Amino acid sequence: IKILAIETSCDETAASVVQNGNKVLSNVVISQIESHKRFGGVVPEVASRHHVELITIVIEEAMQEANLKPEDLDAVAVTYGPGLIGALLVGLNAAKAYAFAHDLPLIPVHHIAGHIYANQLERKLQFPLVALIVSGGHTELIKMNEHLDFTVLGETRDDAVGEAYDKVARVLGLPYPGGPEIDRLAKEGEDTYKFPRAYLDKDSYDFSFSGLKSAVINTLHNERQKNNPINEKDVSRSFQESVIDVLTEKTLDAIISEDVKDLIVAGGVAANSGLRGRFETLSEKHGFNLYIPALKYCTDNAAMIGAVAYELYLKKHFADLDLNGQNYIDIEEFSF
Ligand code: ATP
Ligand code: MG
Ligand code: FE
Repeated sequence: IKILAIETSCDETAASVVQNGNKVLSNVVISQIESHKRFGGVVPEVASRHHVELITIVIEEAMQEANLKPEDLDAVAVTYGPGLIGALLVGLNAAKAYAFAHDLPLIPVHHIAGHIYANQLERKLQFPLVALIVSGGHTELIKMNEHLDFTVLGETRDDAVGEAYDKVARVLGLPYPGGPEIDRLAKEGEDTYKFPRAYLDKDSYDFSFSGLKSAVINTLHNERQKNNPINEKDVSRSFQESVIDVLTEKTLDAIISEDVKDLIVAGGVAANSGLRGRFETLSEKHGFNLYIPALKYCTDNAAMIGAVAYELYLKKHFADLDLNGQNYIDIEEFSF
């Protein structure tokens, strides 16, 4: 089964052909980071326009790289949410047109399910599992008991982790995206600032990062007003330690109380070296398996959408051509 998958939920224009949900025949991703850099974040309208310019090229390239003709395909899959609505609609319309023109079934895919299934491109998912999705737009702790069965254990109540990274980086005067920059500086710094850790209610798996973000920004503001020197490496390390403590402790709690052996970490922030290191230590200490997909499958891509789509194909879960994009879709409703 060969599926052409399309992903345009944020600032990556991506298309991929995936065979049987795990063999990547092509994986084309055009990132718009350079265009959004000067604004210090993703500008939705700019993103949509880029998607319009790039989508046809990306799809053609994915088909060429896979060395396939439209008639070799079995279905077209597309991310229909969550994401920026204008951005989603570009991919959605391209997918619908392709499916209609070549008489192929259309498969609607939830973006976060894609991040979890990115693992399937490297090894088969084993259930039950817990997945921590950390990116610029999402911070979610999800449990799966079997294929296409999602339970949300917790999620952020305000900022996503990546968003907090990018905002703190901006106040430190670092370029966008800030995550890699802070990660780099943190390696040379110490946790001297001791920023707060937001654990919220004791048995909640929800996250909150806006308090931490404000604490960092206020500290920088106060120190600057007093003309005190700012140790950027220590600020980065202190911020990152707070993030890692909360993310790993809540995730570990979930693994233990849900009695799960497999942990998946995905999304752009899964690239963070401090977070990876801490999870590796914890997995050895507590005996769970840690799976983090290769970076190209951690950040937004279409191959992960193709991986989910295969499971939906097996269940004949297809959409009509009136399928609409949605900026928010509860992943529990994407359980089949
Ligand atoms: P979405 O939230 O829809 O998945 P996105 O484009 O915002 O989309 P990703 O592309 O998955 O998310 O990830 C980008 C985010 O990851 C940015 O916020 C970036 O700062 C962060 N990031 C990337 N590398 C690192 C790193 N080494 N440490 C921390 N954060 C990182
Ligand atoms: Mg991105
Ligand atoms: Fe994403």
